[in-house]
Amino acid sequence: MKINENFLNLKESYLFAAVGKKTAEYKAAHPEKDVIRLSIGDVTRPLAPVVIEAMHRAVDEMADPATFKGYGPDQTCYGYEKLLQSILGSYARKGVRLKTGEVFVSDGAKSDCGNILDLFSADNVVLLPDPVYPAYADANVMAGRKIIYADANEKNGFLPMPDERVHADIIYICSPNNPTGAAYTREQLKEWVAYAKAQNAVILYDAAYEYFVTDPALCRSIYEVDGAKECAIEICSYSKTAGFTGVRCGYTVVPEALVRGGASLNRLWARRQSTKFNGVSYITQMGAAAVFTEEGERQIRANLDCYRKNAGIISDCLDRLGIAYTGGKNSPYIWLKCPNGMDSWTFFDYLLAEANVVGTPGCGFGRNGEGFFRLTAFGTEENTRKACERISGLFR
Ligand code: PLP
Repeated sequence: MKINENFLNLKESYLFAAVGKKTAEYKAAHPEKDVIRLSIGDVTRPLAPVVIEAMHRAVDEMADPATFKGYGPDQTCYGYEKLLQSILGSYARKGVRLKTGEVFVSDGAKSDCGNILDLFSADNVVLLPDPVYPAYADANVMAGRKIIYADANEKNGFLPMPDERVHADIIYICSPNNPTGAAYTREQLKEWVAYAKAQNAVILYDAAYEYFVTDPALCRSIYEVDGAKECAIEICSYSKTAGFTGVRCGYTVVPEALVRGGASLNRLWARRQSTKFNGVSYITQMGAAAVFTEEGERQIRANLDCYRKNAGIISDCLDRLGIAYTGGKNSPYIWLKCPNGMDSWTFFDYLLAEANVVGTPGCGFGRNGEGFFRLTAFGTEENTRKACERISGLFR
């Protein structure tokens, strides 16, 4: 037999391992130091009470033969009506009308960012921003696809725009972006939609951070742009919205209007899911269905406000120090330019040794990330304030 040799072309996922190793070594050498991690991409706030109550109720239903649930409903690829309706409600509040058959419940955004590629030929050219969330690149390397990059840099505010001279078939857009925190305006997304249509391409729109958007000029869904249903698949997650990183639930929208090569991508995806996926647990789906209720939204917003407050504390600190950054507003990520011309790893070592603060070196997300650094707002307020005081002390 032959293995899929494309796997041999994957680069070692060096970044987070190296951050962890350097941090552990520093702590072992300086056990008395209070090291603060502003590198975490995971949430720290617990699930909202409405979610917990809904999950408890669902557990009780599983204990009763009259209400016990086995496999989910086939006709909606295992999504329960209650959850699908709450997702449609959330879209309707953004001004987007969808049908239940266009929403596919998933176990999170990361899986579908890779799984969706089953629909496309290995010959397609993939356009990624650089810097980029590494999973997009790796999933396409595994399939042997050609990847080209759009430069995200200081000049374009880390928001690359389409270049009509470049051909692409599959376009990944993540807005608000991980790692840069930058987010596209509605007007900018209109240009991406026009480009995708001209190229007969499909946009894979990762909206994992949409609930951080508060600026009305920014989109929370690509379907807020006219015509996007004919060229875009939207991949969403409860992870950062509602603290589901450990629970695992998301949803992917494949509109009925999306047709390529004479085939409905909605039908192909339904076929793919019914073959390779058996749904998300009833208990999880009931917890997720509570998120987009009126009370659920109020409660998750209270959690998101804690992260927003942390992002504000970091942004204010950088503003006072005159350090340039993107993100921090409409995003839990703050992407800063390393001071004094330091490269990403030099700044990492300096911050760890002098301020005992850990961040993520930007160079790990792509060539254009060199000289930049990612901090996150997912820590506690106390630690965020402490870390910022130390950073201020270093660069004042
Ligand atoms: N997409 C982006 C851009 C992310 O940053 C992350 C997680 O950090 C994910 C997707 C993964 O989301 P999920 O937990 O739903 O798999």
